[in-house]
Amino acid sequence: MNIDFANLDKAYQEHEKEFTEATLEVMSSARYILGKETEELEERLREFTGSAHALACSSGTDALLLALMALGIRSRDEVITTPFSFIATAETIACLGAKPVFVDINEETYNIDPSLIEAAITENTKAIMPVSLYGQMAHMDEINRIAAKYGLAVIEDAAQSFGALYKGTRSCNASIIGCTSFFPAKPLGCFGDGGAVFSQSAALYEKMKAMRVHGQTKRYTHKYIGMGGRLDNLQAAVLNVKMKYYEQDIIRRQEVAQKYTERLKSSLSTPVVQEDRTSVWAQYTIRVQGREKVQESLKKVGIPTAVHYPIPMHLQECFQHLGYKKGDFPVSETCANEVMSLPMNPFLQEKEIDYITSNLLRSLK
Ligand SMILES: *Cc1c(COP(=O)(O)O)cnc(C)c1O
Repeated sequence: MNIDFANLDKAYQEHEKEFTEATLEVMSSARYILGKETEELEERLREFTGSAHALACSSGTDALLLALMALGIRSRDEVITTPFSFIATAETIACLGAKPVFVDINEETYNIDPSLIEAAITENTKAIMPVSLYGQMAHMDEINRIAAKYGLAVIEDAAQSFGALYKGTRSCNASIIGCTSFFPAKPLGCFGDGGAVFSQSAALYEKMKAMRVHGQTKRYTHKYIGMGGRLDNLQAAVLNVKMKYYEQDIIRRQEVAQKYTERLKSSLSTPVVQEDRTSVWAQYTIRVQGREKVQESLKKVGIPTAVHYPIPMHLQECFQHLGYKKGDFPVSETCANEVMSLPMNPFLQEKEIDYITSNLLRSLK
């Protein structure tokens, strides 16, 4: 058997006719940037998340940049975040000349450990940027409580968790600003790069909206330093089709995850979703010893796996100047050595899941 990790081709084929119609309409309309499809998408995003404002933009990375820029984060400011994430989280902070300050994660959720945050706050701290890794949100109540106590902003990096719930609140709507990504491999992916920012604050929304178009408030009148951060209308048209089926896709991902867990939980460490949350399963990530050997033997039988992520941020060469060293964040370091993601998408069949799990269990022996 040959297993597909993300099955993006099946996701396309499932609604091929609708994608073709929607994109043809954009192409023939000759409105390629920020047109009615983008406005429709933003309305859908608002409705889905319950957020007062949604702004579609060029990528998840640019969503994080827009959020940080709108909050006025600049050099010498500090932003507290997790070392166990995709590079974009800490990178966007550093891009603005600010300092990412890392705080170790909770071993069960892989998300920032709120009990360690207060010790990392200094007079330069301006914001906390938790990541909702693998599709499950961080402990947002606790993080918002600490932020309020010290007057800090909270930006949720929800690139992997669009659609997830925390105590009934949707991801992206659980703090002052939420940011997500529509990169093809994310739970809700378009056919290229895309992202969105969310806020309950009209003032922040207006600022991010201007910053998305070079800080422009009127044509060629620039109130802020901004960026070219717009979404293509073609991508919005694709996402409008995908949004119609997204709740169903989440359920299918959850069913796949449940089947994995049933088959694996007695033999190895499977993901734990907290009682007050749901996961949209951006990744189904387990822990194994001797990971390379396991990956190698699965590859031989047509099962792709991935590692999210092998090197924590504080040990990356690009962040050497921050002065961290091995041993600073032991939980993140252990997880980086042991995590392994299995194929995850709404199209995995029962017999494929059986094939993956039986081969996995055999490779552990
Ligand atoms: C994918 C991802 C991003 C960046 O999103 P892009 O759309 O690829 O720019 C940021 N943070 C996390 C946690 C991600 O997984």
